[in-house]
Amino acid sequence: MLTNDELAKWDRENLFHPSTHLGQFARGDAPQRIVQGAEGVHIIDRDGNRLLDGFAGLYCVNVGYGRWEIAEAIARQARELAYYHSYAGHGSEASITLAKMVMDRAPKGMARVYFGLGGSDANETNIKLVWYYNNILGRLQKKKIISRWRGYHGSGLMTGSLTGLDLFHRKFDLPLAQVLHTEAPYPFRRPDPGMTEADFVAHCAERLESLIAAEGADTIAAFIGEPVLGTGGIVPPPAGYWPAIQAVLDRHDILLIADEVVTGFGRLGSMFGSDHYGIRPDLITCAKGLTSAYAPLSGSIVGQRMWDVLARGTDENGVFGHGWTYSAHPIGAAAGIANLKLIDDLGLVGNAGTVGAYLNDQMRAALGDHPHVGEIRGEGMLCAVELVRDRDARQFFDASEGIGARTVAAMLKRGVIARAMPQGDIIGLAPPLCLSRAEADTIVAA
Ligand code: PLP
Repeated sequence: MLTNDELAKWDRENLFHPSTHLGQFARGDAPQRIVQGAEGVHIIDRDGNRLLDGFAGLYCVNVGYGRWEIAEAIARQARELAYYHSYAGHGSEASITLAKMVMDRAPKGMARVYFGLGGSDANETNIKLVWYYNNILGRLQKKKIISRWRGYHGSGLMTGSLTGLDLFHRKFDLPLAQVLHTEAPYPFRRPDPGMTEADFVAHCAERLESLIAAEGADTIAAFIGEPVLGTGGIVPPPAGYWPAIQAVLDRHDILLIADEVVTGFGRLGSMFGSDHYGIRPDLITCAKGLTSAYAPLSGSIVGQRMWDVLARGTDENGVFGHGWTYSAHPIGAAAGIANLKLIDDLGLVGNAGTVGAYLNDQMRAALGDHPHVGEIRGEGMLCAVELVRDRDARQFFDASEGIGARTVAAMLKRGVIARAMPQGDIIGLAPPLCLSRAEADTIVAA
């Protein structure tokens, strides 16, 4: 067996890590952790540290680690049928069963689910569906997509463009021309602190309305948004935000894509964020919680009004020319079935609501009055603590001070993993949905 030092050297010399400072890592100047195992809400590294994973990997291990039911379902599927493609009407019992389970849980008005591999490719699929739909309807100019600043929709060419965070654009020649960004629904950082929440919602709707007017509604195909802004800072929307946005989109016949990669399958204490906030999406993107990351799988859930046009489109134009080799992969589907059953059997959607509220309440009780805590916010099993230099003067720290990263490093020394969100000094928490109250207390204590 390799020693830890040997493995760490191989890591630095061979593996290209995503979202990593490449030079520092190769030189051995950046954090390096080799994870060996995991159980429940804890991961165990090669040095024997047992850490409470307050971010469920990348907010994806929703049922927690070490679930034998999912491991066995994967093994059984691999023995029976590791792979067959899903092109041209082929399927497997697993992919068909999972599709039925997803559609049984999906918000009203949805018609079909297309399975991919991860959130990024599911959003790529959704944008292609939007363009195909408008082409079939003969609306050849209606192609631009509106996203929000601070939205996160993936790292591909289109999805990286939709993502509204500078880090994901810098030096990559993104965003692409068809992508526009509008105001983030981020009450804590609203342009005028004197605005009421209702004023701020009206302001967000007006900004969207004026962007549409400036570009021409006949050029705008869709709006994409996460029910709760995730990577951009874990920001629940202000009350009334989604109805106000939906009204603008309806007025201009603009499709709505709910990116539920984080919120889908229970994280907010509802099965979908669209149900939680009364959003009526045309398309839903889901991934992480679909398999709790035991295998890669995503879903593009298509609403009825789009489905009817897509199906008609292929009658007119032939086969729908879009697919991945691994679309509806049987092993991912088997993981998804076992995962959704566990979510039901263990009542994890309810637990996300109740223990999530407890985590948020305890965090407020512990830190709400701290002079460097600007805001504590969350919904379901999501919580963010935003750090500021001066709360009353609403003064932020300089990015160069790295306060968020230093705080997360200090929490790690106390045995808890949190995430320094990429923009601003925001400590993000998104534990597995099976978190107990005692484990929530451990996070708050750290
Ligand atoms: N959409 C949202 C809301 C996400 O949070 C993420 C990933 O964190 C993605 C899309 C991209 O998913 P993936 O990393 O699986 O490509």
